[in-house]
Amino acid sequence: DPSPLAGTTRTTCGYCGVGCSLDVHVRGGSVAAVTPVHGAPVNRGHACVKGRFAHGYTRARDRLTVPLLRRGGRDAPLEEASWEEAVGFAAGRLAAIRAARGPDAVAVISSARATNEENYLAQKYARAVLGTNSVDNCSRLCHAPSASGLTAAFGLAGGTNPFDDLDRADCFLVAGANPTEAHPVVGARIKQRVLAGAGLVVADPRRTDLADLADVHLRGRPGSNVAVFNGIAHVLLAEGLADEAFLAERASGLAELREVLRDHPPERVARLSGIAPGDLARAARRFGSAERPAILYGLGVTEHRHGTDGVRTLANLAVLTGSVGTEGGCGVLPLRGQNNVQGASDMGALPDHLPGYQPVAEPAARERCAAVWGAPVPERPGLRIPEMFDAAVAGRLGALHVIGEDIMRSDPDSGHVRAALAACELVVCQDVFLSGTAELADVVLPAASFLEKDGTFTNFERRVQRVRPAVAPPGQARSDFAILHLLAGALGADLGCPSPADALAECAAVAPLFGGLSHARLDRDGPLHWPCRGAGERGEAVLYLDRFATPDGRAALAARPYLPPGEQPDGAYPFVLVTGRRLAHYNTGSMTRRTANAELLSAETLDVHPADADRLGIADGDRVEVASRRGAIVLAARRTDEVAPGELFTAFHFPDAPANVLTSGFADTVTGCPEYKVSAVALRPA
Ligand code: SF4
Repeated sequence: DPSPLAGTTRTTCGYCGVGCSLDVHVRGGSVAAVTPVHGAPVNRGHACVKGRFAHGYTRARDRLTVPLLRRGGRDAPLEEASWEEAVGFAAGRLAAIRAARGPDAVAVISSARATNEENYLAQKYARAVLGTNSVDNCSRLCHAPSASGLTAAFGLAGGTNPFDDLDRADCFLVAGANPTEAHPVVGARIKQRVLAGAGLVVADPRRTDLADLADVHLRGRPGSNVAVFNGIAHVLLAEGLADEAFLAERASGLAELREVLRDHPPERVARLSGIAPGDLARAARRFGSAERPAILYGLGVTEHRHGTDGVRTLANLAVLTGSVGTEGGCGVLPLRGQNNVQGASDMGALPDHLPGYQPVAEPAARERCAAVWGAPVPERPGLRIPEMFDAAVAGRLGALHVIGEDIMRSDPDSGHVRAALAACELVVCQDVFLSGTAELADVVLPAASFLEKDGTFTNFERRVQRVRPAVAPPGQARSDFAILHLLAGALGADLGCPSPADALAECAAVAPLFGGLSHARLDRDGPLHWPCRGAGERGEAVLYLDRFATPDGRAALAARPYLPPGEQPDGAYPFVLVTGRRLAHYNTGSMTRRTANAELLSAETLDVHPADADRLGIADGDRVEVASRRGAIVLAARRTDEVAPGELFTAFHFPDAPANVLTSGFADTVTGCPEYKVSAVALRPA
């Protein structure tokens, strides 16, 4: 029996960013069952097929249980090693590369799967031990445009309202998200409200479950979000549906916005997006006439070349209708894909921000951290994840330390990522399984899963919740927290914060936004929203009721014209590929594929519209080849009108259908978030 733990442990789901409270029931050292917590503030007794049933991976036979090391160089096999040898090897090489090439020749990729405390420690390790700001996390690949866009619009890098506000909403605008599959507990809550009479507008190129229920489904071409949101704004202003009093008192930038909107009448938006002017007007009227509208959005808004502009122009709609920063409106909620996307960025695992979104460029922020850490904070902002790969290929990065992310499968243009890993002198990988990335690493350190960890996660509504270990990690696997301590120690440094509780306390000391957070409070009082600046504060669930957190205290409207995506279909690559998620699986599938969920969906498909399939002679289940300018993959076709003619859809849950071989290097011009949602591809029977 590898676990000293037994009985029932209350923790937070480690899959999506909804953050459901779960009771984990342990028998004989293994997870016997997981049940949702009745009365829990987020999920109220509900959970989805991932959180509830996808836990068998914790005892999968191929879990990493001992460190692995490539003793004989890159061409040698990975061999089992002691922790002392593996950590000593990694630390020795890291120190040598840093000494020879400078601290910025080393970079760390932290994880939106890891706890807040692990992310806090990872960024401290990068800055105070390795001496570089080149630390980033996988929110770069999904919601970096949310942090950037929401901060610019309202002042803080999080959703504006709590999940509970959806109970009050009388109309939902769901943009670029399929919560029924990717955030099922949210999807079910929206559906309940809509069936009870609330309005629903869905903006999505795909015909999703919610789109079928919607009053209006705005089925725009992938990459046309900014045009569509500007078109809605145009109608709101033209038809007197904007809240003029709110705009006069609490918003800035209206004149500039009006100027840009002159170029976005419904007729032009129709040409750019394919949405009929009448549908756009109906959507604007439905949303604009609601008393308590709510906007929810997902990666279909952010993962674009103009993802930040998409967030800004969507946020415009909340400002124009006065539905953010007020008692009535339900604000803007970004649906986070991974469990701790919000927290990883909150904790400062970002190349340009310290914990609590304090800019690295700000001397006072650096000094605040340096005083507590006992080490200077480097001044120059570091590399973002895609820049790390570019730097490695260009010979400017010597070592990459990857924590809990399979960059070979989840990052775009896998060929480029492979070249980057090959170009590094050293790749260190902490993971639960021998992932596609770990297979290429020099040192692989076996990590604990979320069911084996102590700490906190922060969900999509800024709610900080406790994570507690239900079982012990198998074999010699250790938490990322413990591994970072070992590596720092081998580098001759002491990270302080011996426990996760100490790490959150230290974060509270350096980041005013989180000054009132502690494990003791969370254990005693339950989850807390941030901002939570002092021990006496409950945290702010609804933001901006008095003023926006922008420099002038007003919500900033954004005047952003439509700009085309990075790739457009052409004669050689006539289809647009959109990538996304399926209900039963999660991201690269490394966890869910090792559970009974594999019986619900055992292989990936390529969704093709029947008209296109007929034209190309493709039957359901036929093997097809999809090719982009980067590479090609072969998988089975699924004929469905969930995709529009000329568009294709697949997910990246299965390694034998590696969608990111196809995706491009185009990225959001503000944040570098990849354009996963638009790739020009060709399709033919295999
Ligand atoms: Fe977990 Fe998300 Fe499902 Fe809740 S909705 S059980 S947080 S995967």
